[in-house]
Amino acid sequence: MEDITPMTDFCIICGNPFDDKTVPSKEHIIPEALGNEKLVTYCVCEKCNNELGSNVDSYLTDYILVKMLRKEKLEKDKDLQIFDSDLTDDKGNKYRIRDDGPEIFPKIDVDKQNGHIHMEVASVEEGIKEARRILKKRFKLDNVQIDEIINDPERFIRGETQYIVPGTFKQDADIDQARFRLAVIKIAYEYAVEKMGVSYTSDPDAAVLRAYLKAGRNGKKDFGEKDYKDISERCHLNDSFTEVIGTVFNSIPDKLVSYTVWLVKDRGNQLVCGIRILNSDFLTFSVFLSKNAENYMKKRKSIVTVITGDGQLIEA
Ligand SMILES: [Zn+2]
Repeated sequence: MEDITPMTDFCIICGNPFDDKTVPSKEHIIPEALGNEKLVTYCVCEKCNNELGSNVDSYLTDYILVKMLRKEKLEKDKDLQIFDSDLTDDKGNKYRIRDDGPEIFPKIDVDKQNGHIHMEVASVEEGIKEARRILKKRFKLDNVQIDEIINDPERFIRGETQYIVPGTFKQDADIDQARFRLAVIKIAYEYAVEKMGVSYTSDPDAAVLRAYLKAGRNGKKDFGEKDYKDISERCHLNDSFTEVIGTVFNSIPDKLVSYTVWLVKDRGNQLVCGIRILNSDFLTFSVFLSKNAENYMKKRKSIVTVITGDGQLIEA
């Protein structure tokens, strides 16, 4: 059995004391969907863990560009579907997207007056397949009757081959910046408590971050202008601070370092958490955690956790 004794006697998200109803759970600080198995905390209750997963983490892990990175870098995601499976183009044709390209859905009309089935399909084979299905399902014919029709091309195909020119379709890569960043704030907040102890939960800035996390956990979608501005100021995407660190990591092969999380006291005595996921510049962030870094970093200037490509966790 894994030891899941939490460091705190309460959930660091909802604040409820651990008891029969509020049960500690294994929470992945960097979401498991991003490949992290080692960096975990037991200070989050089961309910918050589940709700953070579906209402907060998912905005990071399921964003289309992140999914592309997961597919490229994670063995478990090599078959991950990047695009929505069903798309409609500008002409109203429906497509199913597969790895080897878009497959058009047959557009079927039954011409009631003449009793003809009119289909537009990508190929004759596709048409025969679809015709079999319709004859069976809609016209309740048995296999012998179906074979008779299909084998009589005069009756079945009018002899003309039509090709459909596919239209164009777009997949939205827009991002909800507030919720994307909130998923990153979750990583920083949980890491800070795990590494610096329960005292950080009493920090005024921790209280602000926790309030956003609770709102996100509860499924709040409409973060307003003011919240968005505040969240953006607290969580920076690949800014100059992380760029400096990024240049260091860029010289390291991916297989050596997959994830890095670090806490540092900056010159203004601010406590900053840096996060680098899958050793990617695109997934490199800094989160401002506190104005009072000296409260938590008395003896040390920094705390660093590195997870290597082969799954070792190194702390420094
Ligand atoms: Zn909780």
